[in-house]
Amino acid sequence: MARPIVAITMGDAAGVGPEVVVKALADAGLYRSCRPLVVGDAARLRKAIAVTGVALEVRAVEAPEDGGYTAGVADCLDLGLIPEDLPFGELSPIAGEAAYQYVRTATELAVAGRVQAICTAPLNKEALHAAGHRYPGHTELLAALTGTPEVSMMLSAPKLRVVHVTTHIGLVDAVAKIEPGLVARTIRRGEETLRRSGIDRPHIAVCGINPHAGENGLFGRGEEAEKIAPAIAECRAQGIDVDGPLPADTVFFRAVRGDFDLVVAMYHDQGHGPVKVLGFDAGVNITIGLPVIRTSVDHGTAFDIAGTGRADEASMLEALRQAVELAPQAKEEHAS
Ligand SMILES: [Zn+2]
Repeated sequence: MARPIVAITMGDAAGVGPEVVVKALADAGLYRSCRPLVVGDAARLRKAIAVTGVALEVRAVEAPEDGGYTAGVADCLDLGLIPEDLPFGELSPIAGEAAYQYVRTATELAVAGRVQAICTAPLNKEALHAAGHRYPGHTELLAALTGTPEVSMMLSAPKLRVVHVTTHIGLVDAVAKIEPGLVARTIRRGEETLRRSGIDRPHIAVCGINPHAGENGLFGRGEEAEKIAPAIAECRAQGIDVDGPLPADTVFFRAVRGDFDLVVAMYHDQGHGPVKVLGFDAGVNITIGLPVIRTSVDHGTAFDIAGTGRADEASMLEALRQAVELAPQAKEEHAS
């Protein structure tokens, strides 16, 4: 089976992105499962190698098809946008613009089928804005670049996957936004993602909003019956194996035990809390509903430690592993 090509966007060059990328690529085992291609800046990667001390060389390539993809040599589609003296740990519109260009380039390659997945190192939202790209983050940027009207955020940790109906809005606004159509679309996006990754008939649990999923109307104002139950009925009628609305305080325990392949959470903290309890390094952020596979580390640019070599690559390695798991079959690999 051909190893998928995973485009790794280098993220903000002033942050820890280049360091976690080279540390992850120094892991020779990675090359058994995929062909990693950094979309970024070759000189910056060499600088990151110097500060981290990993044993790795960088080869600049002009196209994904030109990569050698062997352990010990990182292939980099070199956009050459980072000045040699760009400081680590300082907000820079140049780095923000470059981070945007890495994502744009990787997305074009993925849409064209020349790479099978994208794994993103962290970008800095302020730097992105300073460069004139007014997106709240990667997710919205990728949605805009691919013309996707609505996506969902999935968090994946070993033994637990959670997809969110709402994410970065206030709790009162989240409850107002939840409605059967949005819940049903979120369930379907999650189901389709798992099916494409090889789980034949994923078993899905849907959380309620109120304590005890409303306790038959005792808690809340009937949100479960009004906003969630109709979506579950609709999805069941379409053949999806979905249960709920279930009390959120026990459903995550049951999922980790193996009862469910996916939990649908109604709001940010309901889903993020349980995943983060399982360990910060293990969590991977996956954007679902896009025409391309995209996974991400679940940490930021960490300007406070950028350039010191201390950033941990565990989340990047896990994000790459998830990208491989979700990636479609790659085209035939030619011996080079
Ligand atoms: Zn968040």
